[in-house]
Amino acid sequence: MPNWLSIYYDEPIEIVGGKGNRVVDASGKSYLDFFAGILTNMIGYDVPEVREAVERQLATGVVHTSTVYLLRGQIELAEKIAKLSGIKDAKVFFTNSGTEANETALLLATYARKTDQVLAMRQSYHGRSFGTVGVTSNRTWKNNSLSPLNVHFLHGADRHLAQFKGLSDADYIKACVDDLRHVLATAVGGDVAALIAEPIQGVGGFTMAPDGLFAAYKEVLDAEGILFISDEVQTGWGRTGSAFFGIQNHGVTPDMMTFAKGLGNGFAIGGVVARGDLMDNLHAVGLATFGGNPISTAAANATLDYVLDHDLQANAAKTGALIIDGLREAAKRLPIVGAIRGKGLMFAVELVDPATGGPSTALTARFMEETKKAGLLAGKGGLYGNVLRMAPPLTLTEAEAAEGLAIIVNVLEVINAEVV
Ligand code: PLP
Repeated sequence: MPNWLSIYYDEPIEIVGGKGNRVVDASGKSYLDFFAGILTNMIGYDVPEVREAVERQLATGVVHTSTVYLLRGQIELAEKIAKLSGIKDAKVFFTNSGTEANETALLLATYARKTDQVLAMRQSYHGRSFGTVGVTSNRTWKNNSLSPLNVHFLHGADRHLAQFKGLSDADYIKACVDDLRHVLATAVGGDVAALIAEPIQGVGGFTMAPDGLFAAYKEVLDAEGILFISDEVQTGWGRTGSAFFGIQNHGVTPDMMTFAKGLGNGFAIGGVVARGDLMDNLHAVGLATFGGNPISTAAANATLDYVLDHDLQANAAKTGALIIDGLREAAKRLPIVGAIRGKGLMFAVELVDPATGGPSTALTARFMEETKKAGLLAGKGGLYGNVLRMAPPLTLTEAEAAEGLAIIVNVLEVINAEVV
């Protein structure tokens, strides 16, 4: 019987307080949060600017009105996001979560293209609703659910298949594009609405498609009029350090982007930013009652302003590089580390059994327990559950980056010594 109270740890941690980039549990133990809640506490805990914005909104007496009425904060937020997206004539629709954001994007795409056929990536995760489990690729994350969508999965970051081993990036991209053309020629029965993809796959284990793959896919899709939806739920807001939205690292402007997680710094808000002509169809399907409510919107405006005013994208680049470089250096002497990957403050350590080179979930579990003891929170995931995923708040200081790195490397060394 799985312990639903604690999917990452043997015993659940009850978090009762937070300040800066640290949280405190019920026993008073403090942790450096290298997972930012679940990439939600993007600028840390108890941020005065966010608290004051929410308190100001509460003081008006208006917690909710819905988009039946004018919500000035929502318009301000939408304008900022539309501009940052780089999408032409962009319009924004607010939801309460990433799942709803993706559901809305799929709705817009299937409506505009008049087909329920969709492309998605292997190892993807897009949410828990009927439509989004359809475009989610791994069996366990699908929860054995069927979906009304007609979905075909493309190759991307996952190169585990024997036919891809040893290929250069250019040859791999060529193989992927050939496969996409083959799917379009054979598997689908008519038009396709869209490709939905995460620029860096989150739950999939922070897997990264080679530079050039999305651009190559986009060229084929454009020729067929197929839309491209970038799921920025994990990769948005400067987290990758080198771009504000993850897909911008690939020089690709999508037709839509979906977002959620960090935008409200813990307050529930998500949404879609899409080409205006696509979004204009939405009047036909109505509003989301709580989507973009005044409290979440106030928190989101304050959070986004904070990210921009403090240039946290640059901070993600600087502190992320410090950690990723440190992990790569340590990995050279640690046979249990199969791979280090990441961009900015989104980085992963893949753990393998040194005897076989195969994935080891037992080592991942050990890592989680040992880092918990040492006062650091992390996440895990990946196709085989052997990937340690870390994504600290974008406010991480260099001192905290060094502190977290030291804990991670120390724990990896202890585990390595046990098994090698
Ligand atoms: N898309 C991605 C890339 C995600 O990582 C997640 C959640 O982890 C979702 C969508 C779903 O978001 P939510 O849990 O807010 O519904």
